[in-house]
Amino acid sequence: MKMTKLLLTLLVSIGCGTSFAAGGHGHWSYEGKEGPSHWGEISEEFKTCKLGKSQSPLDIDTKVVKKSNTGKVNVNYKSSAAELVNNGHTIQVNLADGGTANLGGKDYKILQFHFHTPSEEKIDGKAYPINAHLVHKSADGKLGVIGVFFKEGKENAPLKDVFSNLPKSESKINLKNKFNAADILPSSSANYSYTGSLTTPPCSEEVSFFILKTPIEMSNAQLGSFKNIFKMNARPVQPLNGRTIQATE
Ligand SMILES: [Zn+2]
Repeated sequence: MKMTKLLLTLLVSIGCGTSFAAGGHGHWSYEGKEGPSHWGEISEEFKTCKLGKSQSPLDIDTKVVKKSNTGKVNVNYKSSAAELVNNGHTIQVNLADGGTANLGGKDYKILQFHFHTPSEEKIDGKAYPINAHLVHKSADGKLGVIGVFFKEGKENAPLKDVFSNLPKSESKINLKNKFNAADILPSSSANYSYTGSLTTPPCSEEVSFFILKTPIEMSNAQLGSFKNIFKMNARPVQPLNGRTIQATE
């Protein structure tokens, strides 16, 4: 029973959660009394948001990262049936059978990806207009997240289907065409990796992050269609607290 509830909580709350993610305990948002500085007080189940010492997102200071080859990213994604969800906090694309990834030597299956505007991770203090988090789970239940930055530019063709069907209120639809998550990765897998947390309540820790250095593009119109629904859905950056950020070439 406990296990079932934990699994359910993980499944629905990964990355961006929903108001019912923690079993109905506590509504949260990105501003005001239910905003990020209050998440830890909204519910006992959210206390890690306040007490955790390895929280995400981070502002990555490229002057102090450690060059290393331990954070390699290799994906083996495939086209999958996709469900588009507005969960009240973001737009999330659930992939039924999207393939696998080896992240830092560990094997994971991709579950979903979702968006934050502006980007949650920053590089040397700079945010991108929007980012995607690709959320994976290993056989032993650990989470691994690939971060992809978007800069404003040409229309992102693989995301055309998604961004022209964004659900405006909390709901879900099935995408007509299959989606391959490999289509929203840059050509280089060079990345910054570190251990962090879910960036939404319950802010659970021991999540491995792999933030790809190379941004890809989406158009001003695509960005605008997301911002029309979510003006701002990024948690502020969190203290590093002595963690090492590894950088691969
Ligand atoms: Zn996220």
